[in-house]
Amino acid sequence: MSTKNKPNSLHMNNKQPNSKNTAALLEFDKAHVWHPYTSMSAPLPSYLVESAHGVYINLASGESLIDGMSSWWSVLHGYNHPKLNAALIEQSTKMSHVMFGGLTHKSAITLCEKLIRLTPQGLDKVFLSDSGSVAVEVAIKMALQYWQSKDGQDKKEQSKNEFAKDYKQKCKLLTVRNGYHGDTFAAMSVCDPVTGMHQIFDKVLMKSVFAPAPTCKFDDEWQVEDIKALTELFEQHHHELAAFIIEPIVQGTGGMRFYHPEYLKVCRQLCDQYDVLLIVDEIATGFGRTGKLFACEWADISPDIMCLGKTLTGGYITLAATLCSENIANTISNGEAGCFMHGPTFMGNALACAVANASIDLLFENDWQRQVATIEKQLSQLILPLKNHVRVKDARVLGSIGAVECLQSVNVAKIQKRFVELGVWIRPFGTLIYIIPPLIITAEQLNTLISAIATVLDEDDCFN
Ligand code: PMP
Repeated sequence: MSTKNKPNSLHMNNKQPNSKNTAALLEFDKAHVWHPYTSMSAPLPSYLVESAHGVYINLASGESLIDGMSSWWSVLHGYNHPKLNAALIEQSTKMSHVMFGGLTHKSAITLCEKLIRLTPQGLDKVFLSDSGSVAVEVAIKMALQYWQSKDGQDKKEQSKNEFAKDYKQKCKLLTVRNGYHGDTFAAMSVCDPVTGMHQIFDKVLMKSVFAPAPTCKFDDEWQVEDIKALTELFEQHHHELAAFIIEPIVQGTGGMRFYHPEYLKVCRQLCDQYDVLLIVDEIATGFGRTGKLFACEWADISPDIMCLGKTLTGGYITLAATLCSENIANTISNGEAGCFMHGPTFMGNALACAVANASIDLLFENDWQRQVATIEKQLSQLILPLKNHVRVKDARVLGSIGAVECLQSVNVAKIQKRFVELGVWIRPFGTLIYIIPPLIITAEQLNTLISAIATVLDEDDCFN
């Protein structure tokens, strides 16, 4: 490989970063390191993190910021938690990873047992994978393979029955607008077509069927018309639908929209009525964030397939899980392939499973319901009144999520800088300033986060 045009090395030493090598690191980062949803030619500034502890993110420049984002919904019990650290260290002294094909281990088995016990009834089989997007890919592949396998089995059994259903056609997905399910191709095909910029990938994306987003809000009186368009799409397309996929109760990336539980309840009924599998993406909502352990519980439903990720390891290491019913697992396994066609290298990673077990234990030790209820009460007291601000379109709270929807879009670089000056880490997008702090946050720290939001709302510079 040619070394021409390669950047100079950073000549790093083992000393604490001083301002000189902080600048060099950031310069290299800006020139060569791609960040999420960021231009490489005109990147937004990045802040160099030295360490993180509890709810604080400590920058190399010396500031300590109260984290309002939980590192994109993943950190549950704070950074650098002694119990989670201990679980990792203990596991690493046994093994960090072994292949999952032909081998298994206690950390993965214990985790799967916990997930089966905690998730809604009927989800009895667990497929572990690397990230949320992959968990969604796995869910979609399960649904597609299920109908292909069922078609073969039913036709064998009913070979003399001319009315045997043609399940082979069931290979499309139905979803709602404003959804977000990840950045890989199958996941992208069920993300909102506009915000997901489907036109760029049009030639290769699977063509999904889109219903309007739910509009009836979580606390509003249920309006049955809200589900009308979706019902019509079920009627029209059920013969070609493998699955309906939805984020339960909270459309996160699509704008922190909290919709009515009845909507989700009717989704379950429609899936049953029209023989379509229900995939629920709990990657953002799982593990207490909405005030229920899983957001499905607001509607008292069990999906056929459930995706978990993000906070599964308390924000320590990437890990995801796709759970499904016994019927789905058996139908796939008895099909033509005789197995499920997926198997990532780092499936069931032992470090990730060990820390996930410790995080789930801590959730209950810490009494997550009390933690979330306390955060929700304070968010409601302080975020909801921001509705009256001239720049605010709406302010809403559910569980440990607080969102302020503005009338103008934010200037990300400027608002971010102001938040850092105010001692907080909040990363708004579009017109939305939201927080979802680690559950261990104190009332005083939460106050600082919300005051920072109130402060920037008064500053014209922070908005476009
Ligand atoms: N589904 C939902 C609901 C999400 O919020 C996300 C992540 N933002 C994903 C899937 C994708 O997860 P990951 O980023 O771990 O691939």
